[in-house]
Amino acid sequence: MHTLSLQDIYQARQHLRGKVLRTPLVYCADLSDRAGAPIYLKMESQQTTGSFKLRGATNAIAQLSAAQKQRGVIAASTGNHGRAVAYAAKAQGMRAVICMSSLVPANKVDAIRALGAQVHIVGSSQDEANEHAEHLVQAEGLVMLPPFDHGHVIAGQGTIGLEILQQLPQVATVLVPLSGGGLLAGIALALKTANQAITTIGVSMENGCAMHTSLQAGKPVLVTEGNTLADSLGGGIGLDNRYTYTMVRDLVDRTLLVDEASIAQAVHYAYRIAREVVEGAAAVGIAALLSKALIPSSPDAPIVVVVSGKNIDMQLHYKLISEPASFS
Ligand SMILES: *Cc1c(COP(=O)(O)O)cnc(C)c1O
Repeated sequence: MHTLSLQDIYQARQHLRGKVLRTPLVYCADLSDRAGAPIYLKMESQQTTGSFKLRGATNAIAQLSAAQKQRGVIAASTGNHGRAVAYAAKAQGMRAVICMSSLVPANKVDAIRALGAQVHIVGSSQDEANEHAEHLVQAEGLVMLPPFDHGHVIAGQGTIGLEILQQLPQVATVLVPLSGGGLLAGIALALKTANQAITTIGVSMENGCAMHTSLQAGKPVLVTEGNTLADSLGGGIGLDNRYTYTMVRDLVDRTLLVDEASIAQAVHYAYRIAREVVEGAAAVGIAALLSKALIPSSPDAPIVVVVSGKNIDMQLHYKLISEPASFS
């Protein structure tokens, strides 16, 4: 049994100081009116590398031994984790190899190459990219940095929870995009340790929601990957999951799902109303409120929506913001 404590998140905060941004928490008046409760957006889309993943990657790399730093790191990633590992490794003058499946959009692949990492494109699922990475760990002695199921990665993402507590001590509910669960597990650990009464909710897309399906099954299960606008939420949680499954099961109040049409509307909304570029995965919390998949329980209880990244293909973004808006 692997457990993490608030102490691990405090330690991560020390390691992240000066290396990652403390992102703004922004009140959204329009969304508050529509939802019927005060809504604040935690803008991790403004984080360096365009997503929160830099927190976990930077913490994990900072805690490697000198010998491990010498050998370099490897990651299998749907994009944002790879980008974060590439950036964090480069910042330390380390070698990084990133493996990903052919489902990953071209803009994300290019961004990782531009950061100086070696990119390996293998197979059509995250699991296949993962197997290839495991092979290179054996063959070349690189250190594997998993995207979510790793104590230092989860603790790094948990620093967002500490920031939310400082920025809005009266926070009542937090909506967090959910895939492998590193982001949600870390934030939930920080918030629940501070105050059991804070409600934590994970939001996924209907298409291939691995954690949601696993929680219902009572154990980690495989799901079929499909095409989704929330491509950063793709992939399984691992049948041999060590941390995130139990943490999400024990610390999170509920998970909910949003459909593709509401994710499209939320990306559009974020641009037109909040004037922010966000990717599909990052828009699921906004989608839950706009589509009324989540109805706030009280008009006075503030809700924080974690907006997790902005690395969307700009062609796709242009298309989404050109479609008719259901919210205008
Ligand atoms: C990775 C990612 C998520 C999900 O994080 P998990 O820790 O896998 O649950 C959400 N949004 C974006 C933009 C991501 O890159």
